[in-house]
Amino acid sequence: MSDHTFQASPIAIASPLPRKSRQARVVWRNNIVTVGGDAPVRVQSMTNTDTVDAVETAIQVRQLAQAGSEMVRITVNTPEAAAAVPYIREQLDRMGEYVPLVGDFHYNGHRLLTDYPACAEALSKYRINPGNVGKGDKKDKQFGQMIEIAAKYDKAVRIGVNWGSLDQEIMAELMDANSKRAQPWETRQVMYEALITSAISSAELAKNIGLNPGNIILSCKVSGVQDLISVYRELARRCDYALHLGLTEAGMGTKGTVASTAALSVLLQEGIGDTIRVSLTPQPGEARTQEVVVASEILQSLGLRVFVPSVTACPGCGRTTSTTFQELAKQIDDYLRGQMPVWRMKYPGVEAMKVAVMGCIVNGPGESKHADIGISLPGNGEAPAAPVFIDGEKAMTLRGEGIATEFQQIVESYVQRRWGGAQA
Ligand code: SF4
Repeated sequence: MSDHTFQASPIAIASPLPRKSRQARVVWRNNIVTVGGDAPVRVQSMTNTDTVDAVETAIQVRQLAQAGSEMVRITVNTPEAAAAVPYIREQLDRMGEYVPLVGDFHYNGHRLLTDYPACAEALSKYRINPGNVGKGDKKDKQFGQMIEIAAKYDKAVRIGVNWGSLDQEIMAELMDANSKRAQPWETRQVMYEALITSAISSAELAKNIGLNPGNIILSCKVSGVQDLISVYRELARRCDYALHLGLTEAGMGTKGTVASTAALSVLLQEGIGDTIRVSLTPQPGEARTQEVVVASEILQSLGLRVFVPSVTACPGCGRTTSTTFQELAKQIDDYLRGQMPVWRMKYPGVEAMKVAVMGCIVNGPGESKHADIGISLPGNGEAPAAPVFIDGEKAMTLRGEGIATEFQQIVESYVQRRWGGAQA
């Protein structure tokens, strides 16, 4: 055996840098969601129902909120949609769901917010895209009209710039100036500049009109990972507004999930980003809540938030030819997620629980001991027995067909005992 010695100084422990943004508040009744500053990074999502269908929309908002979305955005694109917003709010309040609603406005937001004051009041935040508020003289006027309404009702505003609807006047102006440079920038660098200019100049205009700077949140969404990183690094350097992060049009399934995770993780690790959305295109039959699951997992994986108990499961290998452990891991993961809306209220702190489901003896007992509760299933050639470890100690051994159900019951009673307080 060789001798092992320590280096002079310990290896630095990686952690996300602190965020330095100004704090904003998004409020509905007693539910005050702080965004930015030292507030937790928030998860947002957006419905894909027709807002005019108030019942369907309220149901989906509730599903998204129960999955962990702390604000939910809805499309407000027509007079009928604006008229439905107070009913959506009412349905949610009746269900005891006080998640703040965000209205997404383009083109006609100034008219809708003016003509439907009950809509303006029922929303907690307005998303305004400066590229879609009107052209020429109308641009500042219509933007100003929306900001005045936000100021009147003390609502938060996200000035949400998107490269797909970038203010063409700003872009043309900057392209023109760029062509006169001795060494012109690349077109995409001009586009970055246009995105940031549009967001910051709109925020300044909103502030001058009378909107509390603490009610302003900015975003500059693009669909390329490196583009998003470049734009947000610079945006964060140039202003202290709370920032909403998201890779726009991220795509479907694995591609959308991986691209969003890659982009958001880099920025969050650098202390950039105060709210996030993962814009996934649902696969046929996939629940809308998947985007909330992915957003929460990004934050939880980075150690920024804890939403649900984590399940450590090995990938399986030649030592496990059966799918028992895959099924058990999935069953336990689904079970924990399904229980969370109730557990969150009943067992505060349970979200920090760590569960391990392992495929064989190689890493099974070790990993299970590191978890609060873990099970090591028998691999090929091992005795048909599954030791269960609780708080690092072997507590029992399960055998036979009912391992999954028994393990679930053990987890349930562990949760009751450890986090149940008076109910234990
Ligand atoms: S714990 Fe066992 S089954 Fe799982 S990956 Fe490792 S060796 Fe394979």
